[in-house]
Amino acid sequence: MDAIVIGAGFGGLSAAALLAKKGFNVKVFEKNEQPGGRASVYSDKDFYFDMGPSWYLMPDVYERFYAQFGKKPEDFFKLERLDPSYRIFFGDKKLVDVAADLEKNFELFDNLEENGAEKLKEYLKSSEELYDFSIEEMLYKDYNSILDFLNGKLLLRGYKLNIWENLQHYVNKKFKSDEARKILEYAIGFLGGSPANTPSFYHLMSHVDLTMGVFYPQGGMRKVVESIYNLAEFHGVDFSFNEPVEMLEVHDHRIKRVITNKGAYEADVIIVNADYAHSELDFLTKENRTYDDKYWNSRVLAPSAMVVYLGVDYTVDKLVHHNLFLDEDWEHGFDTIFDPKKAAWPENPSYYVNVPSRTDLSAAPKGSDTLFILIPLAPGLEDTPELRESFYNKIMDDLEAKLGENIRDRIVVKRIFALNDFKHRYNAYKGTALGLSHTLRQSALWRPAHKSKKVKNLYYSGHYTHPGIGVPMTLISSQIVVDKLSDKYL
Ligand SMILES: Cc1cc2nc3c(=O)[nH]c(=O)nc-3n(C[C@H](O)[C@H](O)[C@H](O)COP(=O)(O)OP(=O)(O)OC[C@H]3O[C@@H](n4cnc5c(N)ncnc54)[C@H](O)[C@@H]3O)c2cc1C
Repeated sequence: MDAIVIGAGFGGLSAAALLAKKGFNVKVFEKNEQPGGRASVYSDKDFYFDMGPSWYLMPDVYERFYAQFGKKPEDFFKLERLDPSYRIFFGDKKLVDVAADLEKNFELFDNLEENGAEKLKEYLKSSEELYDFSIEEMLYKDYNSILDFLNGKLLLRGYKLNIWENLQHYVNKKFKSDEARKILEYAIGFLGGSPANTPSFYHLMSHVDLTMGVFYPQGGMRKVVESIYNLAEFHGVDFSFNEPVEMLEVHDHRIKRVITNKGAYEADVIIVNADYAHSELDFLTKENRTYDDKYWNSRVLAPSAMVVYLGVDYTVDKLVHHNLFLDEDWEHGFDTIFDPKKAAWPENPSYYVNVPSRTDLSAAPKGSDTLFILIPLAPGLEDTPELRESFYNKIMDDLEAKLGENIRDRIVVKRIFALNDFKHRYNAYKGTALGLSHTLRQSALWRPAHKSKKVKNLYYSGHYTHPGIGVPMTLISSQIVVDKLSDKYL
């Protein structure tokens, strides 16, 4: 069987590697010059930046992926558990470290509120149960109909999923202190949601970051990309970079030819990893689209972002590997990101600063630091050099004030990547950085399907599909698609 994969993000790379391992002849067309998609690499003057993902979470999922090839993550990179897992700056009043050691976090919660440790234990017990249940029964499952969703086990456990309650309500009824609430709610940011629009069962994410822990692959997330790219090549996948797909020619409900900027190609099956909305709207004529313009326009998109890559000629000692700067009034901040009527460049943004050079000597020249600053923004906002620069200065004013240091005078490398770059580099719909939010109506069965409903040999893998956003999730998405194809064709 011949397969064409469109896009070499984590979703495309993993699908290609898994298919080739099964015996498919696989060709991958990628628009850009390197594999990884959102996990591309940028380097300048010996500063190395992972442009997208920086949190290595859910290590069990990576293990399960590599096991398909008889391998372990450690065969490709050294995995380090970070301690502290991350540092949170609450406005300019308070700073806390969330530790790798759970006991220390229980102490922290006791300091934040009465019976904090007991409440956290109970919360984490429930989030662990849900995580285990999701891994066993939900995440690796393909949903084709409501019957698949309402299987017996899910119904039995349905009362625990509390699907009608949002995360904010769930956390607020259990915890009183602002800091405890924020520690538990921010984890939903990994899934591109706001606590108010994400179902409470996603509190399983606290099991992921607090109990399972936060890891770092030495050499950066690019080592993970490299490992899957190498696995794919080893199994015979043929990659073509700088070759964007422009059209899918359909005859008799099947893709006949894939048209790129360089030629026309045929295959038995096509797996699209490129942005789902872009591929449906730009590759296919109206009658062959599963989802039309109106559908995409009515989706709740996950945030876009402005990301600042800075190389500085000293070490910013007050920062650890992962740092969150959370605004006191962050609910208002969520509105400017998630409520289309209030969408705007935020006045007092919350933001995230990643310092990989804190853990990884290869990330920056000796005595220097690599800073990655990410500020979530509403997709579809106007994006101009002037807006970026003034927003950059706002963030740097805030960061420098909180750290009590002048960083701007020590910058050696600076690059800003924002909405228009997501659009142009990745063909991201409205410049979204993360794809589709995990609202109830965009989870599981209700996420865009892995198989086209109109074109018989057309499949989709990546963050727009179930199970959703994040590197581990895209690996699972590919596993689902490849299992589906193996059942059908092998
Ligand atoms: C700034 C940022 C930070 C993040 N942080 C984390 C994190 O810490 N941890 C985590 O787990 N996840 C994180 N994520 C999410 C994670 O990176 C994504 O969920 C995941 O990488 C998505 O992979 P994908 O393969 O679905 O999509 P993509 O990576 O977008 O891959 C799609 C590929 O298709 C290509 N393409 C587009 N159009 C065409 C075309 N016409 N022809 C050919 N190719 C095309 C694109 O160039 C791209 O390479 C982050 C994402 C971003 C943007």
